[in-house]
This record gives sequence, C-alpha cells and structure tokens, in this order.
Amino acid sequence: MLEITQRIQEEATRLLQDGKVDVVIGYHLGSDEEEVSPCFVIKEPQATNLVFNEHCTHNLAKYLVGREGYLTSHFRPSDELPRVAVVAHPATLRAIAGLIQEHQFKREDLIILGVVDGSQVGVEPDVEVGRIEEDSEERKELLTRIRELEDMSVSERREYWQREFSKCIRCYACRQVCPFCYCEQCIADENQPQWIGKSPSLPNNEMWNLIRAFHLTGRCIACRECDRVCPMQIPLSLLNEKLAAEVLENFGYVAGTDVETAAPLDTYKVDDPDDFIR
Ligand code: SF4
Ligand code: SF4
Repeated sequence: MLEITQRIQEEATRLLQDGKVDVVIGYHLGSDEEEVSPCFVIKEPQATNLVFNEHCTHNLAKYLVGREGYLTSHFRPSDELPRVAVVAHPATLRAIAGLIQEHQFKREDLIILGVVDGSQVGVEPDVEVGRIEEDSEERKELLTRIRELEDMSVSERREYWQREFSKCIRCYACRQVCPFCYCEQCIADENQPQWIGKSPSLPNNEMWNLIRAFHLTGRCIACRECDRVCPMQIPLSLLNEKLAAEVLENFGYVAGTDVETAAPLDTYKVDDPDDFIR
C-alpha cells in the first residue's frame, strides 16, 4: 500500500504542478492510522498528505456530481468545468462508469488515478497507481447470508426485514454517502405530496428503505458504503446485492461495467414480451 500512496502523491504533485487540474480528490489520514477521510488537494505541497490503505473505502465518485459536486462548482466560473483528478478504487471506477452512463459527466471531464484489482469495471484509469486483491472472503460471506435469506419462508423474510427496518432512525446517511443518490430533491424530503412519512415508524421506514432499494436496482455498484455508514447496522448490502443478483439473472446486467448500456429499469423495449408497455 505504501507504493500506492507514493504513486498517488507523485501523480497528484505532477498534475497540480503542470496546472493540469484544479483539485485532486483523494484520501488523507484522520486522527490515527486507522482512520482516513476524503480530502481535496488544491495546492501542490498538500499532495504529500494523500494516502492509500485498506481503510480507504469511501466512494469518492460521490464528490463528482450534484450540488456539492467538484465537477459542477467551486474552482471555476460557472460556465467552466473545474479540472478534477480523483483517486478511484474498483468500486469508485464502477461508480464513475455508472455516472457517465447516466450522463452526469463525460469521461474526458476527469483524470482517474486508478487502484485496480482485475475485476470488471466500465472505465479504464488514466493512470494505474496500484493493484490490490479483491476481498473474496467478504463477498463469500455476503453471498452465504443472501442464500440463508432465500431459504427462509416469505413470512420469515418479512419478519427479518421488519426487524431490521424498525431500527432505522431516518438519518439518511445511506443516501448522503451514495454516489447514485444525486437527485436535487429526494422523494423522502418532498412534502407536497408527501410520499414517505418522515417519522421513524416501521411503515414509514419500510417505505423509505424499499423505495431507495428500488431506485438503486441495477444502478448500485456494490461499494457497500451505505452499509458501512448506517449507524443502526442495518445490512443494506444484503438488500442491494440480492437485487443486483436478480438483475443479473433476469437481464444479464452488472452495474458499473458498461458506459453505454442503461440499467434495465431505466429503459424499455417496445418488443418487451410483457404487455405493460402496450
Ligand atoms: S443510514 Fe441506516 S438508519 Fe440512517 S436512514 Fe439509512 S438505513 Fe436508516
Ligand atoms: S446503494 Fe450503497 S452500495 Fe450501492 S452504490 Fe449506493 S452506497 Fe454503494
């Protein structure tokens, strides 16, 4: 990981020195070695603060779009795009591909310093700054838990999710951290009409969590950041990845692996075998 840190620092310094970018989005150390947080480097000497280690899980694609997005504001007049470089691990690379596919920005708007693991991603980095191993143990564990849920009866499964959703305190951390939750006005914040009741009761929580899951079906690129930040430890990845498995089985589609093809629930075919379209 030290080598990756070094490569990131070198590339960031070079890009800022040559005036190729206005900001490099990466990670820096928090209060101790085990804590990192996203950072925005705009001056060349700060590039030596950049790090990469196993705690760098945040999906930095989050900072590329929306009102706070570094591709839409901050460093340049409003009619000019800021020039941005971003450190991207494999999930961030998938998120960037998904966001390009959703027309949030263009590939050429961005310089990607990629940390790859050999998994399929929809964009190639401009510079490969390192390689890491895919955490296959974590993935296996998740798939086992999904199978356990599939083996339950419908009522057991419903009980399981009701138990989990009843813990939700509606802090919206899951939404705030997700690169694909970029709506200017979230359905959860609307009050005329109010689609989702705001108080954290079970029916309202079910509505919130299920609407969010469906909005992300076929778009979620499995970074698991929503799961990581949920203060109530609700296993959101179980839901997201079960839906991803359904999308793969029914449509042969994996989010974040293709910048051309829209997610199955974002599109339609006039020759769809079902009759809802006619
Ligand atoms: S982060 Fe967890 S507790 Fe907060 S709104 Fe999302 S699911 Fe609910
Ligand atoms: S829903 Fe969760 S796992 Fe999926 S892209 Fe958003 S933050 Fe990542």
